[in-house]
Amino acid sequence: MRENTLAAIDAARDVDIRQALGLRPLINVSGTMTVLGASIMVPQAVAAMAAIATEFVDMAALHDAASGVIAELTGAQAGFVTASCASAITLAVAGTMTGDRLLAIERLPDATGLRRDVLVQLGHMVGYGASLHQSIAMTGARVVPVGTVSMAQPYQLDEAIGDDTACAVFVVSHMTVQYAMLALEQVCDICHARGVPVIVDAASEYDLRGFLARGADVVVYSGHKFLGGPTSGIVAGRADLVRAARLQNRGIGRGMKVGKESIAGVMAALRAWQLLDGAAIRAREEAALALWQQVLHASPAVRCTPVDDPTGNPLRRLRVQVAPASGWTARTLADALAQGDPAVMVRDYQCDLGYFDLDPCNLHPGDEQVVAAQLVDTLARRP
Ligand SMILES: *Cc1c(COP(=O)(O)O)cnc(C)c1O
Repeated sequence: MRENTLAAIDAARDVDIRQALGLRPLINVSGTMTVLGASIMVPQAVAAMAAIATEFVDMAALHDAASGVIAELTGAQAGFVTASCASAITLAVAGTMTGDRLLAIERLPDATGLRRDVLVQLGHMVGYGASLHQSIAMTGARVVPVGTVSMAQPYQLDEAIGDDTACAVFVVSHMTVQYAMLALEQVCDICHARGVPVIVDAASEYDLRGFLARGADVVVYSGHKFLGGPTSGIVAGRADLVRAARLQNRGIGRGMKVGKESIAGVMAALRAWQLLDGAAIRAREEAALALWQQVLHASPAVRCTPVDDPTGNPLRRLRVQVAPASGWTARTLADALAQGDPAVMVRDYQCDLGYFDLDPCNLHPGDEQVVAAQLVDTLARRP
């Protein structure tokens, strides 16, 4: 039975499923964008999902096993798998409001009588396709902004803490304001002095241990971004807070429920992450950057520079600055690449600054050559 399942998966790989579904093939040089399918799932996760798909399991025991793997990899006391990082934020926040009181869990989003203020630096109020504000507020919490979009000061956090404060949420992302915000250590010091837990949204960060080590009580990640797992979210941290988050499955978490296949898939992806050869991956990524730089070198329309990841992930991208005199803009060039066959989807969220980036971390072998050819062909056309 299991062998048949795996053979069927192998057979399905011989045809591009996108063609069968009437979809265009895409090459993703934009990063782990959930709108494009997030990441290339690692083979260990695919195999684990297929293997468990046809079996019955005690779900509570499977959750416990996942907790053990998450704890081992993050250094946390416990862990919990949910549907996505956005769900993880919602459930972790809800847990700080209700604790393990089951009636309170059943009543959310009615937060009457509960601590419900959630402190977030204004410069951290990001959107990831939906807003962080909504992911928090749907629990019944009240989001309390700290500071301004351009600065947050310690007293602004300290004096915002009161009897109704449930927790603080701290976001680590290229999307936040990158200067004059309070550092994680400062937020933890101020909050912990007042008994307030700190939840870190590290959806897309490679570092599985650092945020807890620096004082966070809970950290949440996406399973489907850098980890290459199935669509899922990971909660890791203090045992009581993780338990309170997991108990939300009896309440608002029900609609964010994760299946056996996703739990098994994330566990396999975490194990695979532990064994990854980071140096080999970086060498492959750097080779792609060098190839693109080489083919674009002669073009007067663009100037290319490798840039470090803004939040310190071990990854560089190629920044492609488009010369206005060429007739192209960063936007029109990105759009032309997205209309190619195959479509090349670049990291285009800063096109209004005159550039886009090429992200090398989601390539199948040979994709870098296709991207290089598309870049050359597209630039050879008239804008
Ligand atoms: C992607 C992202 C999310 C949402 O993650 P999902 O797992 O797709 O729900 C939340 N926060 C940040 C900073 C992100 O980058």
